[in-house]
Amino acid sequence: MVITAALWQDFLTIVREEVGSRVVETWFKAVKPVRWDAVSKVMYLEAPNQFVQQWLMTHYSDLFRLHLGRLLNEKQVSISFALEGTGAELCSVVQRPDESFQPATAFSQPKNIRPAATAERAVMPAISKHHLRSKVVLIDAYRFDTFVVGPSNALAFSAAQAAAENLGKLYNPLFLYGGSGLGKTHLLHAMGHYVKEYNKKATILYQPADRFVHDFVQAIRTNKAYEFEMRYRDVDMLLLDDVQFISKKEQTQEIFFRIFNMLHQQGKQLVLTSDSMPCDIEGLADRIRTRLEGGLVADIHMPSLETKIAILHKKAEANNYVVEDDVAYFIGSRECSSIRELEGMLIRVVAYAALTKQPVTVGLARKVLLSSREPRRIDAGNQVGLIGIAKVVAKHFNYTVRDLRSTKRNKDLVQVRHVAMHFMKKLTVYSLREIGVFFERKDHTTVINALEKVEKQRLSDHHFDRELRAIERKFNLRYEER
Ligand code: ADP
Ligand code: MG
Repeated sequence: MVITAALWQDFLTIVREEVGSRVVETWFKAVKPVRWDAVSKVMYLEAPNQFVQQWLMTHYSDLFRLHLGRLLNEKQVSISFALEGTGAELCSVVQRPDESFQPATAFSQPKNIRPAATAERAVMPAISKHHLRSKVVLIDAYRFDTFVVGPSNALAFSAAQAAAENLGKLYNPLFLYGGSGLGKTHLLHAMGHYVKEYNKKATILYQPADRFVHDFVQAIRTNKAYEFEMRYRDVDMLLLDDVQFISKKEQTQEIFFRIFNMLHQQGKQLVLTSDSMPCDIEGLADRIRTRLEGGLVADIHMPSLETKIAILHKKAEANNYVVEDDVAYFIGSRECSSIRELEGMLIRVVAYAALTKQPVTVGLARKVLLSSREPRRIDAGNQVGLIGIAKVVAKHFNYTVRDLRSTKRNKDLVQVRHVAMHFMKKLTVYSLREIGVFFERKDHTTVINALEKVEKQRLSDHHFDRELRAIERKFNLRYEER
């Protein structure tokens, strides 16, 4: 039987509840389910490299077996890991007879799950002691000064700051939207911290909307809907996260509408987030949509490479370690769709370095993050090297290597030079500094700027993108598959 995507998603949801989304993003998402063999009771999985597999098996093997067992309704489940793309077996974990469990109808907390190792815990955000009502706490690390501002989030950031400084007076409601893992929750918590610090009397309530729904359903069950509504009466700032969760839930929307109006009429600050604009949230009553659109609506996008690098430095700094520009650049230019994923990669790299007592270098990051399907980079020692890349790029655009290395600054040539830098960084292990030196530039930030420009233009200019792909194909001839 081929394992269904739905089963895997259910598994990830359960695991997320147990160990948190950070662990799931960092480790579990790296794994691909392959198939379930119902006869031998083996779940076949693929890992991008041995490190991920080892980490998962050391820390979470019980969790795999317990929850996959429950979802598949099997007492005993074995796990077999293969290296992604190769089918080469990495390890098999067979459940020992004394570890068997009874499939249960309700999920309960497994007792034998070992905590994550110190290396990983060291980079987890600590929860602050400021307990808000409803048992929700503010994450200590999510503050304005730990938020990196760039063009992708500048509007949301300044609106959040201004609203926190002028509670209820400026942008009310403030509605922030954007894809998952782009910093919405971070900004909500930052607003909470800010107001707590400067307005000690203010009552702040941060609440994920699914929690709002859950609490309301409980309240109805126990005939306490009125008490539920009254809980919000004295709130000065309501931070409601992921408001899309109230869609299609009529009764919840009804009470939300009342709470919203009650607070709004009293000039209390309302801040809401969602994964899409109010008009794109399906199953949301029109009157709520209108209310949500009545203040400021600000979006957050995926940041540029430059901002991603700054975020990686900030995250590293917050956890007391230093990540060199090269490593940040390498991680930042990996494909990813959220900052959460970006952070996950950084954690994986740092955790690996800590565990193996090695410095965090580009080589190490590559080892941890590159999956086996990706082409190998041209080695630093390889004869192709920087000069080889410069030759290919120069020839493609009818220039010479000497032109590229010169100080001539005509627009076309500058761009070709940037393209050469782009491929040098992409295809070799040379550092930004070394690439800078190749072009006789003293400052490696020139190289960072060049790389940033190429990435940007590639996104907006199809012709340019096609050109890069054509060059890429020339290099691909030299790629060796692992
Ligand atoms: P969302 O709520 O949009 O799904 P989060 O606020 O949970 O995303 O952010 C995911 C992770 O990314 C968090 O660890 C957060 O600190 C981090 N993050 C997102 N954007 C930024 C940023 N601009 N600066 C620093 N960290 C960020
Ligand atoms: Mg969030």
